[in-house]
Amino acid sequence: MITMTRRELDILKKNHYIAEGGEADIAEYDANTVIKIFKDKNPQTGVPIDKKRKEKVVKYFITTKFPQSVIGPLEDVYADREFAAYIMRRLLDDDPVRQLTKRNHLKKNRFSNKDVLKFAIKVAKIVDDLHKRGFIIGDINDQNFSIMENEVYAIDTDSYGIKGQLYAVTYTENYTAPEAYKANGVIELTEETDHFALAVLCFYILAQVHPFGGNYSKQPTWKFKERIENKISVLGPHGVGVRSVTPSWNWISPQLLKKFLDIFEGNCRESILPELEDLYSHMTYCKKHDGYYYSKFGECPVCNQNAKVQTQPIKQAPADTTAAMLKVIFESDDIETILNDKYYLSKDHNIVHRRTGRRKAVTGNANVEFTKDGNYILEIRDDVIIIQDDYTHSTYQIQKQHKSHYDMTDDTLYYVDRNNRLKSMQLTRKGTCETSEDFVFNPIFKIVDEKTRFIASFYPKKAIVVENGGQTHEFECNDSIIEYALRYDESSKRWLFIYEKADGSFRTLVFGNKQILVDNSTWVYSAIPLSGICLAGNTIYEPGNKEIIGLSIASNKIKAFPCSVVTENSHLEFSNGGFTITNPDKIYTFGK
Ligand SMILES: [Zn+2]
Repeated sequence: MITMTRRELDILKKNHYIAEGGEADIAEYDANTVIKIFKDKNPQTGVPIDKKRKEKVVKYFITTKFPQSVIGPLEDVYADREFAAYIMRRLLDDDPVRQLTKRNHLKKNRFSNKDVLKFAIKVAKIVDDLHKRGFIIGDINDQNFSIMENEVYAIDTDSYGIKGQLYAVTYTENYTAPEAYKANGVIELTEETDHFALAVLCFYILAQVHPFGGNYSKQPTWKFKERIENKISVLGPHGVGVRSVTPSWNWISPQLLKKFLDIFEGNCRESILPELEDLYSHMTYCKKHDGYYYSKFGECPVCNQNAKVQTQPIKQAPADTTAAMLKVIFESDDIETILNDKYYLSKDHNIVHRRTGRRKAVTGNANVEFTKDGNYILEIRDDVIIIQDDYTHSTYQIQKQHKSHYDMTDDTLYYVDRNNRLKSMQLTRKGTCETSEDFVFNPIFKIVDEKTRFIASFYPKKAIVVENGGQTHEFECNDSIIEYALRYDESSKRWLFIYEKADGSFRTLVFGNKQILVDNSTWVYSAIPLSGICLAGNTIYEPGNKEIIGLSIASNKIKAFPCSVVTENSHLEFSNGGFTITNPDKIYTFGK
């Protein structure tokens, strides 16, 4: 037990702040540990934090042996004689398992479907091990398991339940079995509901689509919860459409697929670990599609079905007569995958700056950026930015706020320091010049140039946006943002901000000069990533399956036009009357 005064704890929180969650703040304690400091209430929901319960589980977990891969409490902390916090091991540059559903992440880390299956097995083994020790996890989801250096760790353990002693209380709708919802709003989480959530998570990372995701045209407004309740998964015969770019899941063994279906649409609530392990020990590599499949098939079921996905796409694009309007503007044999309009990943695993051809080997999960002239190379990590200056041949690092966003224009880096201040750092031949900008809070921002910028701070219940000339907008926001698109339209001087909520729905906001022009929560998107969507005047353009879908924000009408090379993975940019289409393998212009 560690004791301190409230004042000492507050100073520790202030000076070593790392991150904020719904019920606690995280601060650095020493080089290998962090301290989780509980709040009095959740600022988003207003619900008080049950510190008595936390105290009880923390004490219990300290004396119980957790598996090595579970990040549990090491010591409890009392401030002014009241339970206030606990110490736990620190993970560095870790990624939630949700990242395994992202194509670029898989490519950068060279993860095959067999590697992803290995991670799924590790998750399932942790669940199995915890059950054997008498714990209920309750909140199994894609954020509560993290990968660091190819090992999986379970985090957020203080919401676990203890069989026969204490209920697990936290849950995520997208992962919760229908029977968990009892009368009077009570949620009952058990080993069985853990098995359901585990199956959802494993299917999600193996198939790269949530089992209750996709497009169910009979009930387009149903969210994950309704789909789970009505047992409409992508595996059953319900005509749920999935993205044309979702890889085939035919490589999975028939037994495992059947078990998934029995869990999602039937009453089976057993662990899927045995089927995962059976598949892992029978895998054959197929050179043709560069992936593994279940060896008991006579030949590769991915290549020989000739179909990319099991279910039919709902919309069939009309015949494409627009090939003449397409022009390839960038392609190369060196490309493994194009990451964005500035960089691609090369076959020999370097991040390549297209403009200068400069290369940087990829290490771990860092993002890499270059200045316009290519003479500064920046490696953006969770807590630091490492800057390689080729003018002076020196390398140094600056501290940033944990997992905070950043942006980069031609030669200026924008990042958030550990005191919630937005900083700009100009990197030129003459050296670096750092300027402090505004204070920000959990910000999402994009900076086009000095005058054109969008900086949104997310407070517990509202967001405040500071836009181009300094005008501000405020809107209510209680959602946790899973993914977003933030795009600027040069011609209309408007900003488009779309974000995806935890329940799978979207909110679309368009910011005009003086007011918020659009605030819509009914439009749905299937672009992946979401940032491939762009705005041009009154139209939001979304990449679809062989088509570009235009949504008029003024008339709320949709009009699609064919374009053979576009998929849900394409990144669209509209300028000078036409599109620039960035695909994983080539960049095109269309209609310019
Ligand atoms: Zn194949």
